[in-house]
Amino acid sequence: MNDHAQLEPNHSPNRNPSRRILIVGGVAGGASCAARLRRLDESVEILIFDRGPYVSFANCGLPYYVGDVIADERKLLVASPDMFRERFNIWVHTNTDVIDIDRPARTITVRDLNTGQIRTERYDALVLSPGAAPIRPTLPGVDLPGVFAVRNIPDSRRIRSWIAERHAKTAVVVGGGFIGLEMVENLIHRGLSVTVLEKLPQVMPPLDPEVAAPLMEHLIAKGVKLQLGDGLARIDDGADGRLVVVAESGASFQADLVILAIGVRPENDLAKSTGLEIGSRGGIVVDAQMHTSDPEIWAVGDVVEVPDVLTGQDTVLPLAGPANRQGRVAAESIAGRATNFRGIQATAVVGVLGLTVASTGASEKGLRRAGVTSFEKVYLHPGHHAGYYPDAHPIHLKLLFSVPDGRILGAQAIGLEGVDKRIDVIATAIQFRGTVHDLAEAELCYAPQFGAAKDPVNLAGMLAENVLNGDMPLADWLQLDSTGALLVDVREPDEFAGGHIPNAINLPLSQMRDRYAELPMNREIWTYCRVGQRGYFATRFLAQHGYQSRNLAGGYMTYQTFSTPRAES
Ligand code: FAD
Repeated sequence: MNDHAQLEPNHSPNRNPSRRILIVGGVAGGASCAARLRRLDESVEILIFDRGPYVSFANCGLPYYVGDVIADERKLLVASPDMFRERFNIWVHTNTDVIDIDRPARTITVRDLNTGQIRTERYDALVLSPGAAPIRPTLPGVDLPGVFAVRNIPDSRRIRSWIAERHAKTAVVVGGGFIGLEMVENLIHRGLSVTVLEKLPQVMPPLDPEVAAPLMEHLIAKGVKLQLGDGLARIDDGADGRLVVVAESGASFQADLVILAIGVRPENDLAKSTGLEIGSRGGIVVDAQMHTSDPEIWAVGDVVEVPDVLTGQDTVLPLAGPANRQGRVAAESIAGRATNFRGIQATAVVGVLGLTVASTGASEKGLRRAGVTSFEKVYLHPGHHAGYYPDAHPIHLKLLFSVPDGRILGAQAIGLEGVDKRIDVIATAIQFRGTVHDLAEAELCYAPQFGAAKDPVNLAGMLAENVLNGDMPLADWLQLDSTGALLVDVREPDEFAGGHIPNAINLPLSQMRDRYAELPMNREIWTYCRVGQRGYFATRFLAQHGYQSRNLAGGYMTYQTFSTPRAES
């Protein structure tokens, strides 16, 4: 890789540049800002500084490079410094650490990591896109050889070499978030046996626990050991040259390598030391055009705090999409165009050993944490395409919406196929402040192998409409233990015999018209079927005959799929 250590530091390719724009960090946010700015303005001088040896590399591909799914490291390099210079007249200084910002003088101080030389660079506009650093807890043993975090290409290269040289067989991944789980998948792909140590009682913390439950079952089924509800206490150097990961509970796990994936923190040191305003989540405070508290300094990407489109609260969201879009917005702002960044809604997807898990917007636990109570939820389990076409796989989908206006608040889904598409449609509806009525009405493409005439997105909207207009009062399976209601399983006897919710009685929908008088009038009735449809019909029938009846959200499948997450030690 040809970097630019040999460049004349202050060399300016523009004879009389109108302005000098410096960018700190040349990956997702910084690189997209630089390229967009050049497309808007040929007259400015643009320089990128990155302390690493590469710019514009695919961080999101790093786990797959470790797993050898991406075998050629060069595939991770989206653009090289040469390409930036030749195509865009953008000058890239790699291996160059930006160590200070002098705002009154409008200069930055940089250290050339090859030579140790320190110099200053003048700017008219400065863009900060330094990203977020993996959190390294201050615990004994976290700096031992064999303990890794994954942030850049050299990190991934070191992990690959370690696995190869040590003939590694076992790994502990500390942290069950999306980077941790991507590492799990790739270590398994390399033939390692993997334990996940996670402080929370579930993996994928942004998900509601019941949606994460099938993911945990799946991990266990694939041979992953889950040590949940248990934090890292220390890492010891084992007698046989291996590492011993000791959890807070005292449980210990031998490992040839350890991956620390317990989250990231905004790299705000430069911003802090120069007195830029920092928000309560540790991110740089910016306005909709990505201006910091200094009008000559912009900031983008993992380092900033931006408003959540649903709650309006400022938050940090370390994802590539927002970083790229913010880079573009900053470039437009520097070029004098007033483009606004709308905010974030946490749309994310992760693939885990064949399963896809995706979410957008608020989770139920997030809403409750924020004190929001005026919402409802529906669960459904439609096939990812028409059931009569071969190989339809269920999508387990949860939709949250506000009551009474039906505004979509969030969705989470898990399944083998078609999950990302549904969450993306719902994410787009959220962007347009859509309601469940918009989902019910959405015209989506359909042929049997791609979807259904009533797509899962339409169904989610229709179910939610039924709840909103009172046609389908819902019962929450989380309250099964505390309710005094009579549980009526309206499936056929053979289905009931194959498994049912404890204490339920069986009164099939097909016999309901003849036998409904057997049901007590003085007790609430909770009906359920497999996924909720027959339960809904039964509820409608009973309501019209004077019963107080509710349909158990998502039916037996929700109960079964989302039943209490199981940990395995
Ligand atoms: P970065 O892309 O991290 O770039 C920051 C750069 O700034 C770094 O190269 C750093 O060396 C440099 N830098 C920092 N400080 C200085 C300084 N003082 N001087 C000079 N240079 C400096 N997001 C998704 O949406 N989907 C995914 O699948 C996904 N997978 C990921 C997998 C991994 C392993 C990782 C680490 C991240 C993943 N992300 C994913 C997150 C995504 O990569 C980030 O959100 C995005 O790259 C943030 O862009 P950024 O420009 O803010 O920071």
